[in-house]
Amino acid sequence: MTRPATGLIRSWVESANAPGCDFPLNNLPYGVFSTTGGAPRCGTAIGDRILDLHGLEQAGLLAFSGDLLTGGWNAFMASGRGEWARLRRTLTALLREGAEEAERLAPHLVAMDEARLHMPFEVREYTDFYASLHHARNVGTMFRGPENALPPNWLHMPIGYNGRASSVVVSGTPVRRPCGQLKAPEAAAPRFGPSQRFDIELEIGAIIGQPSDGPITVAEAFDSIFGYVLLNDWSARDIQAWEYQPLGPFLAKATATTISPWIVTAAALEPFRIDTPPREVPLLDYLLEPGPMLYDIALSVELTPEGGTETVICRTNYREMYYSAAQQLAHHASSGCPMRVGDLLGSGTISGPERDNRGSLLELSWGGKEPIEIAGGSRAFVEDGDELTLRGHAEGPDYRVGFGACAGRLLPARG
Ligand code: MN
Repeated sequence: MTRPATGLIRSWVESANAPGCDFPLNNLPYGVFSTTGGAPRCGTAIGDRILDLHGLEQAGLLAFSGDLLTGGWNAFMASGRGEWARLRRTLTALLREGAEEAERLAPHLVAMDEARLHMPFEVREYTDFYASLHHARNVGTMFRGPENALPPNWLHMPIGYNGRASSVVVSGTPVRRPCGQLKAPEAAAPRFGPSQRFDIELEIGAIIGQPSDGPITVAEAFDSIFGYVLLNDWSARDIQAWEYQPLGPFLAKATATTISPWIVTAAALEPFRIDTPPREVPLLDYLLEPGPMLYDIALSVELTPEGGTETVICRTNYREMYYSAAQQLAHHASSGCPMRVGDLLGSGTISGPERDNRGSLLELSWGGKEPIEIAGGSRAFVEDGDELTLRGHAEGPDYRVGFGACAGRLLPARG
């Protein structure tokens, strides 16, 4: 493994060296973009530009067996860890300040604000977890009281459910308020109508880059994760409350799941590895981590009403998770469940100990009873026209590794 950089790696793309830039040369996140009239292609973000990797491969400036000519990163992920490291090494050398190739590469840079970003990979299957202790305690306290907040299994395993890959959309895609069966506690029977308690969940998604067919260790799981995206698991709380027993969430979570367009690689996050918080009870051996496998990533959520100004409604950190993505993946595979390249694992809502660390409106407004104040109004749940934007970055001494925005606007229910 290459030693992580300890400071900003300067690039000849000047905007990449600016303080606070999400995409310095230390990052090199992978996405898929198109420009007017062109087909979607693989690229990497550098400063306020996108380097067209498809173009570089066609021009003979990069040689990766044609993997980057496709409109997604699945084929490249499948090519293995050796190739992951080789591409990162190659791009770092090509984009470094003083690189001889600068002149030949410059025509392959595209202004990010003139490009459209697409799904960076094809989601094979999608699993979502429930792995932040603060979130589980908050939600459990609301639904079952403080004595029974945590289910008896919670401290022993990362609890998850199988979601819908078809629901995953890229940042910027509008989300339609869902309809479903709703039943107020005092009502004798359910009715069918638009969800009145539509919510967000601030999460990080881990992307599986190497397949497995049988149990794997936590260390192997860590090594098979290609990278991470921000993930908003839109959730209809009223549909969920009526449908979830006994098999867990179903349609409440199947409307849409928004991800950020840039895959921030595990390699870029390497300097920001940290341990999971102390265990409240010892874990079974197959879930033990041999080293730090969580990351220090500052996260926030902005809410912007239609025509209004934004309010930051949550600030938290990925380090609050009780289980890392590597533990979740090892648990997932422990039964023999085959895992595939392009599988997406949602972390679960990321909440911290303070009120403004809560990663969902359900928690922020305490079940809708304590609406939060926003610029020009208040919110218990998401209203039509609201845009929700997740942001995240890891902070180095003089640079950051950012995720860009993960945004979606809520459209009114059909009909
Ligand atoms: Mn979730």
